[in-house]
Amino acid sequence: MFLIFWIVVVGFLLVAAYISPFAARIVEQKRLRFFCRREHVLILTYDDGPSLVTTPQVLDLLAKMGAKATFFLLGHRVQSTPEVIRRMRDEGHELASHSQDHLNALKVSPWRSVTDVQRGFATLVQYGVDFTFFRPPYGKLNLLTWLTAIRHGVRFGWWTVVSGDTFNPRPDPDSVVQAVERDGGGVVLMHDFDRDEDRSNYVLDLTRRLLETAHVRGWKVCTLSEASRLR
Ligand SMILES: [Zn+2]
Repeated sequence: MFLIFWIVVVGFLLVAAYISPFAARIVEQKRLRFFCRREHVLILTYDDGPSLVTTPQVLDLLAKMGAKATFFLLGHRVQSTPEVIRRMRDEGHELASHSQDHLNALKVSPWRSVTDVQRGFATLVQYGVDFTFFRPPYGKLNLLTWLTAIRHGVRFGWWTVVSGDTFNPRPDPDSVVQAVERDGGGVVLMHDFDRDEDRSNYVLDLTRRLLETAHVRGWKVCTLSEASRLR
């Protein structure tokens, strides 16, 4: 009887450890979708950079179209791209954390995933980057990484629409734009690390189409922090 009790307790704790962050994410994404629709907001986000080729191309396009975006940076790439970081900041974009090495919190040990999150934060601090938001790699959290982020006082930078720029095959960019239109705005997840030219061009093309749609529909285009001040 005693053993069964402890099996139930441990089982419950394990389920809670993995279910709680997931449930919190679902609730927050739902709220975010509602908020973007209510405020008519489009937020462009780019993960896994900065890079030496694609990120400057994205920055050129954003500058040309007068838009600001939020970049979720990987600590190990920050170290080799100080010029790009400076440019992002000078041009008014928001910088945020995406961990140090992009470890999936559900596939490595809890301790390694926590260290990855903490090192990602520490690298941004070391390079003088102020940040408010953290986006977990793959959107995955375990209880420890969830609590680590909360303890550091960061906010989770969720998204409402996935661009599919890492998928094989990639979706038609029109279908992504239509998904954002159906939602009446949103937070779009894209990537700005260097890959083959086709994928970079897909991101650039989608960025341009989304900004044109925002212009036609009269949506505000802003960073996550700017959007949170509208709440
Ligand atoms: Zn990522």
